[in-house]
Amino acid sequence: MQKPVIHLSDLDRTGTWLKYRNGLCNSCMATCCTMPVEVKLGDLVRMNLVDAFEAENIPAKDIAKRLTKTKVIAQFNFKQRIFTLARRANGDCTYLNADTRRCTIYDQRPNTCRNHPRIGPRPDFCAYRTK
Ligand code: SF4
Repeated sequence: MQKPVIHLSDLDRTGTWLKYRNGLCNSCMATCCTMPVEVKLGDLVRMNLVDAFEAENIPAKDIAKRLTKTKVIAQFNFKQRIFTLARRANGDCTYLNADTRRCTIYDQRPNTCRNHPRIGPRPDFCAYRTK
């Protein structure tokens, strides 16, 4: 019988990260979903947090104000028009199912999540953790 692979990457030390390969996510604790996620307005529309009319007609800083009040975003970079999603106290993304460690909005997830780990702190490597 094949032994399960145990690997405990340290999220803050990219040198401990594992080279990504297909299927790795199946046994991972979704460490990547504990990193700050930067999103654009188009992501927020796809996530049904902003409607298309609002996106086209309301200034981004006003949208950011509304989403900050409802604790959907933690930060807004006015110059770059980038929003940072809020996280739970333990660092988990608010869209992560705490028990299954799976994304609850997978089909609508932001581009940052879609592109990870191809684009990220250490391209093609991820903070794989089995527990
Ligand atoms: S939106 Fe989904 S994939 Fe992206 S960090 Fe949150 S739980 Fe993970």
